Amino acid sequence: MYHSIKEWASSIRLNIPSLTIKFRGNGKHTKTLLRSEFLIAKDTRIPHMNSELKSTSPYSSLIVILVNDCTIINYKHMKSRRDFLQQLSASALALPFLPIESLAATAGIKDEPYQGPILRVAILGLGSYASRVAEAMKESKKAKLVGVISGTPAKIKDWQAKYNIPEKNCYNYENYDNIKNNPDIDAVYVITPNGLHKEQVIRVAKAGKHAICEKPMALNAKEGQEMVDACKKANVKLLVGYRMHFEPKTLEIINMRNNGEFGKVLFFQGLCGFKIGDPSQWRLNKKLAGGGSMMDIGIYAVNGARYMIGEEPVWVTAHETKTNTTLFKEGVDETIQFELGFPSGAVASCLSTYAMNNLDRFFLNGEKGFAEMQPSTGYGPIKGHTHKGELTHPHVTHQAVQMDEMSSIILENKKPLVPVDGEEGVRDLKIIDAIYAAAKSGQKVKL
Ligand code: NDP
Repeated sequence: MYHSIKEWASSIRLNIPSLTIKFRGNGKHTKTLLRSEFLIAKDTRIPHMNSELKSTSPYSSLIVILVNDCTIINYKHMKSRRDFLQQLSASALALPFLPIESLAATAGIKDEPYQGPILRVAILGLGSYASRVAEAMKESKKAKLVGVISGTPAKIKDWQAKYNIPEKNCYNYENYDNIKNNPDIDAVYVITPNGLHKEQVIRVAKAGKHAICEKPMALNAKEGQEMVDACKKANVKLLVGYRMHFEPKTLEIINMRNNGEFGKVLFFQGLCGFKIGDPSQWRLNKKLAGGGSMMDIGIYAVNGARYMIGEEPVWVTAHETKTNTTLFKEGVDETIQFELGFPSGAVASCLSTYAMNNLDRFFLNGEKGFAEMQPSTGYGPIKGHTHKGELTHPHVTHQAVQMDEMSSIILENKKPLVPVDGEEGVRDLKIIDAIYAAAKSGQKVKL
């Protein structure tokens, strides 16, 4: 996300004092634009826009936007943000990744508080990642933490005090089906060990609430599909906590790829790992984790290969190595190297491990260029550059942006650039199932 026109302009090497931007639109996007925090135009992308950017304004601070070929908006002269939004809504105008608030701010227009719908969320499982999500939600405009579900009464008390949660929105694992009678909760965010996700999400769906589930959404694709089916049946949405799908530098690379800036994509490398600590933790328990590093951290490489290459793999090969059989018991993988083959001929080569630190790197190579990210999936700041230079988008709190965007997806049917629905979670699990099968048999597995 760029926070100002200046930042955006400098990233595409424009001289801001003399910037005129001409946009064309089809009007269809207007509604989405007004509702969305990110202004991502369907047809207006940076390389195509370059030909439409003109340096005609003689005034250093004047920014002029030409809409629908001839309408001129000089938003410096608008009195309020509403004026600005109304003008904007008259067209399908957009700047890539530039939040509407930033346009208004750059123009010196006073901001108004967010008045749209708010997703009221209860978190199920108050562990370490849940704490991070809860803190990040303080920054969210469109999502609010209103309830908790926990097996630990002392945590409930703590969270009630910390986040001002009323008694009537607190549940334990025995009684949370009663959430169906609570009109003040829209969605439940399941942040428990992987092996518990399926049963918990299905209970949430049966209680008539939307479900957000942490990754991996389940232990295998069959379980994931059962969750998708249960949510469909209950007519609630199911989203998976893929926070990277909203991360600005990641989205920039995906847009560049869509625009053909890398040419034909040939190769992706995803290296994901860290050294696991406490031997008694659930991440090393096959029943609760579903496996080892692959389920926890390797999934970022699987998911990343798909969104960076922009295709679905058709075959998998994999090789597992284990140096510590005490820590990594039967069915709990320490290190897996795997390759994914894509229909275009592109190949991904990935490493998932619990045995090495400082492993968080994506590399994408195409006929015309490359993108490199390191760190690529950590909590940030993400760092990245391409053959065109460094990616300069400011760091955002991933979980805050994720919750804002998920609110729009659930409450306003917004379609994200990269999906985060249950089907997306199942796609990753099908690949992970195949990786485990390939590692076991030593054979190439077709998908
Ligand atoms: P933690 O162990 O820190 O927390 C899990 C919580 O689940 C516990 O604190 C507990 O909460 C609850 N719980 C219920 N039953 C059990 C059980 N049998 N054993 C252990 N805990 C139980 O795990 P994390 O927060 O690190 O991970 C939770 C999920 O979030 C995982 O699926 C993980 O993959 C995902 N995750 C995602 C990240 C991301 O970036 N998207 C990052 C980190 C994790 P209570 O006491 O309230 O009942």
